[in-house]
Amino acid sequence: MHDLGIMNGMAYIDRSFQKVNIYIDDDKIRCIGSEVKPCRKTYNAEGKRIIPGLIDPHVHFELDTGNIVSCDDFYSGSVSAAFGGITTFIDFLDPVSKSSDFESALEKRKKLAEKSIVDYKFHATLANPVGQTRELAGIAKSKGLDSIKIFTTYSESGRRTYEREIRELLGLSKELGFTLLVHAENDNMVGVLPGHKVWDITSARNEEAEISEALSLAGMVEETGGNLYMVHVSSGHTIQALSIRYPHLLGKGFHIESCPHYFFLNLHEYDREDGYLFTMVPPLRSHRSQGLLLNNVELVETIGTDHCAYMKKDKEKENLKDIPMGVGSIEYSFLAMYGLLGNGAIDRMSENPAKLFGLYPKKGVIKEESDADLVILDDDGPYLKTEDHSASDYSIYTQGAGAFASMIKVVSVISRGHFVIENEELKGGNGKCLL
Ligand SMILES: [Zn+2]
Repeated sequence: MHDLGIMNGMAYIDRSFQKVNIYIDDDKIRCIGSEVKPCRKTYNAEGKRIIPGLIDPHVHFELDTGNIVSCDDFYSGSVSAAFGGITTFIDFLDPVSKSSDFESALEKRKKLAEKSIVDYKFHATLANPVGQTRELAGIAKSKGLDSIKIFTTYSESGRRTYEREIRELLGLSKELGFTLLVHAENDNMVGVLPGHKVWDITSARNEEAEISEALSLAGMVEETGGNLYMVHVSSGHTIQALSIRYPHLLGKGFHIESCPHYFFLNLHEYDREDGYLFTMVPPLRSHRSQGLLLNNVELVETIGTDHCAYMKKDKEKENLKDIPMGVGSIEYSFLAMYGLLGNGAIDRMSENPAKLFGLYPKKGVIKEESDADLVILDDDGPYLKTEDHSASDYSIYTQGAGAFASMIKVVSVISRGHFVIENEELKGGNGKCLL
């Protein structure tokens, strides 16, 4: 007798949809097949699609910048995630420079995340760790973190990590086995000035700065043999430049993440009267860069949302430097990307991030003995999604050029064998820290 049977659905297994029954015991998928077996509970998934619980590798809930805290906490953010089909997300620890600060940074975020209804993990974050790279990487690994994030910019707030330490960290990534996440912008080419307005964002944080830093980092990966993951790549021009100069590194030592908003929107949003609602770093790019991003999507390994939501009133500021940067999108991410990439969106939001961040095959795949994280979809749309569960009072996906109808709809979500959402109704859940 199995605990739960998901019957007659079309499940995404080995990159295609197959009609199977999925049997779950406790928190694991116990067996997959065509036989009908006795279960304590069954769910009829006839006519529905079943995909692995999705993984968002780039999320900021309750991000405290010192001036303001982003509006989705780990509860509202995780509910919104679940309604978007995401059953695992990876958030970030606050930046530290010294190994003595690591433990408290970890404990602080772990405590806040306890209210999450789905599973989660963290990336460590470093800020200019001079003389501390080996110790910090060692502590992160010993605490179960498989990734470390750095910034090549924000020198004005002390967050920039410089070339010597980046090389050290790349060497350590190979030696100790972790992924170095990099926010890549050439610090000498970017900067928000006091008089800058919303529409200045594209020059203040220009595309050339992303391209030049990406190329310089790829050179360091080549020399050190390290493992680098470039977060939120905003432009197809960046990928094109990398693929011309360093084709042998892409998907090997150099991994590319992009976000749904760079595929869906472009800098014309900054001409709107409420253009401030569309501000994030890096900013939206030209229509041409947007097209090139889609043309080069084969080289984009993962889709992360960089979810960092704020209320309208917090974003409505005259000067660019006063606007908190970031947008929410965790609930729309898969719907949007599935429309563009089809099954390619599933791979980039399940198996690929699972493999890069030490979660595979526990997460990211429908397989016997994997965690029973499943998303059940209706696919006879169009469905127009007009509201969501984020604490924010707006979404860039429900207005202007961002409004879209999706052919699929999230119906039910199972996390480790339990319904978090059942037939569009929130049941809640107990997210587990995966460290
Ligand atoms: Zn981010």
